[in-house]
Amino acid sequence: MANNQHRLFFALWPEMATRNELADLSNRLRPNTPARWIRPENLHITLAFLGDVEKGRIKSLASAASEVEPRGVKFKLDRIEHWRKPQVICLTSAEPSGVLDDLATDLTSRLRNAGFILENRPFRAHLTLARKAVAHATEIRLQENIVWESREFALVESTHHPEGSLYTTLSSWPLQ
Ligand code: ATP
Ligand code: MG
Repeated sequence: MANNQHRLFFALWPEMATRNELADLSNRLRPNTPARWIRPENLHITLAFLGDVEKGRIKSLASAASEVEPRGVKFKLDRIEHWRKPQVICLTSAEPSGVLDDLATDLTSRLRNAGFILENRPFRAHLTLARKAVAHATEIRLQENIVWESREFALVESTHHPEGSLYTTLSSWPLQ
C-alpha cells in the first residue's frame, strides 16, 4: 500500500552558519551553471539511503541507528565537482573524510544486520549542490574552505511535491 511506505534516508544537516556559507557559494555559482539548484534548507550530506520503508519497520530502523558509535564529525569541504552520470554538482573534500566514512560504514552495517537492504556502492562523502546539471567548469578548488561540523545525525523522510522535495526529520541521534 503506497501510503504505508515512507521514503527514508539518514543524513547530516549543516549548522546555520555553514548553511549560510553554502547558500552564498550556491548563489555565486548559479548564474554560470544551468541546473536545479537545491534550496539552502534542503542542503545535507546523505549517510545512507533506504528508499521506501514500511511504517512498521521504522522502529527497528531507529533502534539500529541508536547503536551507532558516536563520533564528532568535522571536515573540510574544499572542492566542487561535476559528476557527469548522475548530473549533479557536488562539494567534496580533497582530504579523506575518515570519520564520516566510519560513521556511514558503521550505520550501514547496523542497518544491514537489522535486515534493511542498501546499495552496495562504496560511500563517497559529498554534498549535492545542484541536480540536472549537464555541464560545469571542471573541478574547482574553493578559495575558502567550508568547515562542516555535525553534532548529530538524523533519520529523514522525503516527500515529493511540485515545488521540490520536502524533508522532515523523524528522529536524530547525538554524535558526541
Ligand atoms: P529529487 O528526487 O526531488 O531530485 P532528492 O533526490 O533530494 O530530490 P530523494 O530522491 O528523496 O530526494 O533523495 C533523498 C536523499 O537520498 C538525497 O540526498 C538523494 O541524493 C539520496 N538518494 C536518493 N536516491 C538514492 C539512491 N538510489 N542511492 C543513494 N542515495 C540516494
Ligand atoms: Mg532523488
